[in-house]
Amino acid sequence: MVRETHCLSSSTFRDDGYLLTLTGMPHALTDLEVRTVTKPTDQAGHELTADVCVIGAGIAGLSAAVESARLGRSVVLVDALPVLGGQMVNSLIGLFCGVFSNAPQHRQLTHGIFDDIFRDLGASGDLFYKRTHTTTVGYDEVALGRWVEDTVLAHGIQAVTGAVITGVTRDDGRLHAVRLATRYGTLDVRAAGFVDASGDAALAWEAGLPCRLPDREIYGSQQLVVERLAESGRPEPAELADRVAQKAEQYGLRRHDGLAFFFPGRDTAVLNMTHIEAPLEPVAAARAQLDGKVQADRVVEFLRAEFPEAFAKAKVRSYGFPGRRQTRWVQAVHQLTVDEVRAGTRFPDAVARTAWPIELHDSPQGYVWETFGPDHLHYVPLRSMTPPDVHNLLVAGRCVDGDAAALSSVRVMGPCGAMGAAAAHVLQMTAAPSGSGSVHDVDRAELAERLSHNLEDAAG
Ligand SMILES: Cc1cc2nc3c(=O)[nH]c(=O)nc-3n(C[C@H](O)[C@H](O)[C@H](O)COP(=O)(O)OP(=O)(O)OC[C@H]3O[C@@H](n4cnc5c(N)ncnc54)[C@H](O)[C@@H]3O)c2cc1C
Repeated sequence: MVRETHCLSSSTFRDDGYLLTLTGMPHALTDLEVRTVTKPTDQAGHELTADVCVIGAGIAGLSAAVESARLGRSVVLVDALPVLGGQMVNSLIGLFCGVFSNAPQHRQLTHGIFDDIFRDLGASGDLFYKRTHTTTVGYDEVALGRWVEDTVLAHGIQAVTGAVITGVTRDDGRLHAVRLATRYGTLDVRAAGFVDASGDAALAWEAGLPCRLPDREIYGSQQLVVERLAESGRPEPAELADRVAQKAEQYGLRRHDGLAFFFPGRDTAVLNMTHIEAPLEPVAAARAQLDGKVQADRVVEFLRAEFPEAFAKAKVRSYGFPGRRQTRWVQAVHQLTVDEVRAGTRFPDAVARTAWPIELHDSPQGYVWETFGPDHLHYVPLRSMTPPDVHNLLVAGRCVDGDAAALSSVRVMGPCGAMGAAAAHVLQMTAAPSGSGSVHDVDRAELAERLSHNLEDAAG
């Protein structure tokens, strides 16, 4: 007689202890032998080799990895988190900024990976466009997270998640390998070229290269997604900002301004209303993460009480991983300056452009917000992505070289994605045997041609 069991939906036990599997083959449970093992003293670590090793799977690293794969290169994409997508997905950023020019033209400035995201998430209804002084693009972070995973798989990119850099092999002006610690042991990745898209310049730092630190804190934020919002009574941005400014102390809010990105037609919003430290020291970083959650909960209390029509039933759907804006970044051949940003300097080695304002979060209560005119564009030169003393390393994303204010205007996702794509092309163009072997010696005209979709407007 067959006895049903509640813990195995597709298999059943017979009275004699045999398990009947879907294949119909009986197995005695005691057939599954168990060994006792101890860690061998001479156990070799794991190894991978690729053309390109990208550290950091946020928008910059993902763009670098996908573009490299499309150029026919083998790629290892590493991230310390157990998931891909960086802050874009896991810190619940929720809005692509810096991809479009200012009003009234709203031209798309950066293409590549954004064209793919906008097409696919647009088709599934997981995206919305918001027109203000520029166009920003909101997204569902769950859908985007799955899109990133599918895209990495489809391009044959070898992802290594949950892996933190512990060492770098560097000599003769080149990086040769990174050593990573994972919960399953160490992994060495050898590559011909490297991209530091870690946001904290983790690869450059471990390689012993000079890095920059701001003299005072530049705050990050604990983002959150709330759900069960009513359609009516949602405050306009100015109304929300005014109310926070008036009531922040009453509710114990550190930040005296805030933004809510409501997803049209859904009952959710991303809240960007806290300011947290972003330390580079492990104990302080863990502490800041917990403090951020306390601030986030106060924000929800504030919204429930002050805007009950929309928020009375609000619940937290998810808290992001701590959001870090500007922490540690590289010293490169050129430090982008705020004067160059304001002047819209077009460099001969420009690789990315944006119109995003200066957005420097350097006080607990608020941030500097300096917008630009309708025709304004500013650029990132390749030289801000290349530390001087290495020939096969590019830095991309929020840890390229700039003064604090300049960096604040190019660290949003649009230009970060463009920098990632540029890094892929430079590594391919300079790769041996036909290339110069140095990222400092690249044919600028050819690079500009390859990146023209991110630097020039399409004719007509
Ligand atoms: C709170 C907040 C709100 C923001 N709002 C917006 C917005 O609305 N729109 C917008 O466009 N931009 C916004 N930004 C800026 C933007 O989100 C980031 O600057 C951008 O996502 C950075 O992308 P990235 O790829 O350079 O770095 P990240 O997304 O930070 O990715 C770096 C990756 O590297 C990994 N890493 C770090 N160190 C190591 C290591 N030692 N070993 C292995 N891996 C490592 C990290 O785990 C991470 O996944 C915001 C930023 C913050 C913090």
